Amino acid sequence: MKTVLIGVGQAGGKVTSSLVEFDHDMGFDAVKGALAVNSAKADLQPLDIDTVLVGQDRVKGHGVGGDNELGAAVMQSDAGEVMSALDGRITAEAEAIVVVAGLGAAPGPAGRRSARELNKVYDVPVYAIGILPGRGEGAMYQVNAGRSLKTLVREADATILIDNDAWHSSGESLEEGFDSINDSIARRVGLLFASGENVEGVGESVVDTSEVINTLRSGGVAALGYASAEADDDPDTNINVVTSVTRNALLTGTSLPNATKADSALLVVAGKPERISRKGVERARKWVEEETGSMQVRGGDFPLDSERLAALVLLGGVERSTRMEEFMQRAKEAREEAKRQAEAREDTDKLFQNDDLDSLI
Ligand code: GDP
Repeated sequence: MKTVLIGVGQAGGKVTSSLVEFDHDMGFDAVKGALAVNSAKADLQPLDIDTVLVGQDRVKGHGVGGDNELGAAVMQSDAGEVMSALDGRITAEAEAIVVVAGLGAAPGPAGRRSARELNKVYDVPVYAIGILPGRGEGAMYQVNAGRSLKTLVREADATILIDNDAWHSSGESLEEGFDSINDSIARRVGLLFASGENVEGVGESVVDTSEVINTLRSGGVAALGYASAEADDDPDTNINVVTSVTRNALLTGTSLPNATKADSALLVVAGKPERISRKGVERARKWVEEETGSMQVRGGDFPLDSERLAALVLLGGVERSTRMEEFMQRAKEAREEAKRQAEAREDTDKLFQNDDLDSLI
């Protein structure tokens, strides 16, 4: 799937850069353009991709911090600037536009605003990659993410969710883990984009871009799983390799842990074509059907010159999964807590305003 990427905010910009790098290093050439959008100059400077600085009259290059409302205002006023920066970058070869954003902070509204504007202007699907804050991040992040996600799901054609807790190893802080998390995102999403691209001698079993688009057609929230293992030269000995990488991709390697119930799924098996066991693929697909409860499980190979075999599992329509319900509940509770705290502060202010006593200092 030939894509043009738009990274919004710091997380969006960094993940977009990692994706561009992965696509380039692997020689896939599925990413046809990339732009990072931010209101903070410092966040754009380290990036190796094209950038556009927005909201200068309001925040003067310092960003909006965690202020969701200001972020929304800045991006609304600058939607035109973003759209004109994109002009000419979204060429006829682009098969999808992908907006990447961290949902925890200000870029949430920006991401969804861009998705809406882009959807109005361009004919190709507009997908979002939304990064959920980790459980350890503050209440404000959870509230922002809940709000952003709700609207993003409405505005984008589908939103691939990445939980920041998914690939973060214990013992390191979330910030320390960002580089490796971003690499994990780039590998999975990069392989998904490259599916159906860069393939010589297309055979019947080779995955096609339309399968990705059709899997995401149900809209809503999507998740992406990946796992790989050493493979044997003989495909017959690889039956179990194919089934076990598929199981691991879905059960332990997914971007949204515990989200296995889905409306649709796509199983891509990557590796040397002569090593891919047809029997293994058949069994793995059956297993994905049972596990997701979906009758719409597509599949295909991704010929790749590697000593390993890998499974990439794209799930469409996972919003009814326990993980999503848990997250929305957490966001709701955080919002109620923030409201209670604001009311308590107001009560305290009132109490002291009504007091006839002079303050001591
Ligand atoms: P900004 O201040 O408006 O640019 O907000 P960010 O884009 O930094 O969004 C904050 C959210 O993104 C938080 O939930 C962070 O945990 C997450 N985040 C920030 N940087 C990264 C990163 O490099 N990778 C990942 N995966 N998440 C990030």
